[in-house]
Amino acid sequence: MPAYTPPLRDMAFVLHEVLTVSESHPDLDPDSTAAILEEAGRIARDVLAPLNAVGDREGCRLENGVVRTPTGFRAAFDLVREGGWTGLDCDPAYGGQGMPYVLATAVGQMAAAANMAFNMYQGLTHGAYSAIHAHGTEEQKATWLPNMVTCAWTGTMNLTEPHAGTDLGLLRTRAEPQEDGSYRITGQKIFISAGDHDMAGNVVHLVLARIAGAPAGVKGISLFIVPKFLVNADGSLGTRNALSVGKLEEKMGIHGNATCVMNYDGATGTLLGEANRGLAAMFTMMNEARIGVGLQGLAQGDAAYQAAATYARERLQGRAVPAPEHPDAPADPLIVHPDVRRALMDQKAFVEGGRAFLLWAATLIDAANAGDAAAHGLVSLLTPVVKGFLTDKGFEGAVQAQQIFGGHGYIEETGASQFVRDARIAMIYEGANGVQALDLVARKLGQDGGKPIMAFFETVKDFIRENEADARLKAGFLDPLKAASRDLQAAAAFFLDNVKTPNAVLAGSTDFLHLFGHVCLGYLWARMAKATLAGTDDFSAAKLATGRYYMARQLPATALHLARIQSGAEPVMALSEEAF
Ligand SMILES: Cc1cc2nc3c(=O)[nH]c(=O)nc-3n(C[C@H](O)[C@H](O)[C@H](O)COP(=O)(O)OP(=O)(O)OC[C@H]3O[C@@H](n4cnc5c(N)ncnc54)[C@H](O)[C@@H]3O)c2cc1C
Repeated sequence: MPAYTPPLRDMAFVLHEVLTVSESHPDLDPDSTAAILEEAGRIARDVLAPLNAVGDREGCRLENGVVRTPTGFRAAFDLVREGGWTGLDCDPAYGGQGMPYVLATAVGQMAAAANMAFNMYQGLTHGAYSAIHAHGTEEQKATWLPNMVTCAWTGTMNLTEPHAGTDLGLLRTRAEPQEDGSYRITGQKIFISAGDHDMAGNVVHLVLARIAGAPAGVKGISLFIVPKFLVNADGSLGTRNALSVGKLEEKMGIHGNATCVMNYDGATGTLLGEANRGLAAMFTMMNEARIGVGLQGLAQGDAAYQAAATYARERLQGRAVPAPEHPDAPADPLIVHPDVRRALMDQKAFVEGGRAFLLWAATLIDAANAGDAAAHGLVSLLTPVVKGFLTDKGFEGAVQAQQIFGGHGYIEETGASQFVRDARIAMIYEGANGVQALDLVARKLGQDGGKPIMAFFETVKDFIRENEADARLKAGFLDPLKAASRDLQAAAAFFLDNVKTPNAVLAGSTDFLHLFGHVCLGYLWARMAKATLAGTDDFSAAKLATGRYYMARQLPATALHLARIQSGAEPVMALSEEAF
């Protein structure tokens, strides 16, 4: 099974030399950050990665109404919990360590690369923690948060119903008000990640439901805290709530994570936030979860790339041209072949650029949390790009990695297939990527009078202007970035000209998301190149060469995306429904 190497040098480079995080977070000095990331990397490599194939092979089991996780998961969860990793960026008032989100993102990237299914139990808990932290009463926070910070209790998000996926306005789960102020929740939710398991004392479900008499559609949806075990006034666990696991879904990947059908049969819940404003409250969790899912895409792309690079160095097939590179061996390794190199470079350039993009977005979240309105607007705009682009490209990278394994990549023994299977779901859940693109063009682009997108363009322009005199950056980095950024502006202008013909905008939405993603990575690659120029070591040389590859071979995709966008709705919508 593939080994996992934590990308410590690369993370330190991005955090300190590119994003200079210690300027805004003095506690993130290079030494302390290195110590934390080294330990997190050790756990990812030595504890979580070896359980990745075990989780895939064994999956979860439903026994007498209780979900059993794969061998070793429970001990590993205890270890992660005992190390305080689950509360790294949580509020110290509830037992967290109060570290910046960007640090938790770096740690999470390694955990999700090593074992995506395992890491989801903690990830969902963190999302539920954030929703309760943002919208809960003091009593709710005191009741739930301390145990969620430590993952003694884990959390879930319950949106999806059999007939209501993307269109949550259709959901039917009911909430009946009770005299004591609580609600009785009745309905069925499907596909609930970490819906039940044997690694925590309680599972705190955040459930979307409709209070009797509420308006139809999304304006009548409320959010409820519905625990597996009710909690007594003294904080101890009380009686079992009226909810159960109907079944475990059989699925393509992330077998180590329990995906449950949850039945609520008059379960006791308490309202979180305001009645009929549940979707807004759930969005606190979903926005965080979308960044977290983008992280999963990147992480799986990274793990798959590492496995493919190792294999390409070891597997002997064919000869380099014009002359063998290892004449004494029976053949040269795969890595000598330019087409294999191309695939590896695509993956490497995406993983390193994507890592910088993700960590940059995480610094914007920290700034937004500290009250910076412009950062809030920008990260809100970028959230669908982080989710959609990093998961589409992470999956593409995993498929490229599998291809490098040839037929062996299709055989489970090598582990290449698991990366593909696990990475695939990240494109679907937390709002399928088509819906991320819709959110981007229909909501985020015009948000706040277009201020965030203008701020993005200004950020890129300023960087180009400030560095244009540097010949080492101009041709290889700044000129291609300028061209790509112009493509993005032209696409935005096309949408603006076509606001009255929405299909012309919607038909180009996925292309726009990808165009935007490329410009973001191009911008981050230019910043990384600048930070590397002074370096004389192998790391700096490789960084510059990888950046040049991205700018030369990946970034020109923006022109193709723009051409597709400008072709409008007609080619997409030309056929009648019957013609399909
Ligand atoms: C393994 C797994 C884990 C999951 N975990 C959770 C969880 O923890 N909690 C939870 O609540 N849900 C969870 N889900 C559900 C998941 O979020 C949904 O499956 C997803 O949001 C899509 O909903 P759907 O499956 O009903 O697809 P649909 O809504 O039927 O969409 C089908 C396709 O149509 C496209 N589409 C739909 N509407 C539009 C539109 N207006 N414009 C353009 N395209 C559109 C979508 O992009 C998608 O590709 C999970 C799903 C899986 C498979």
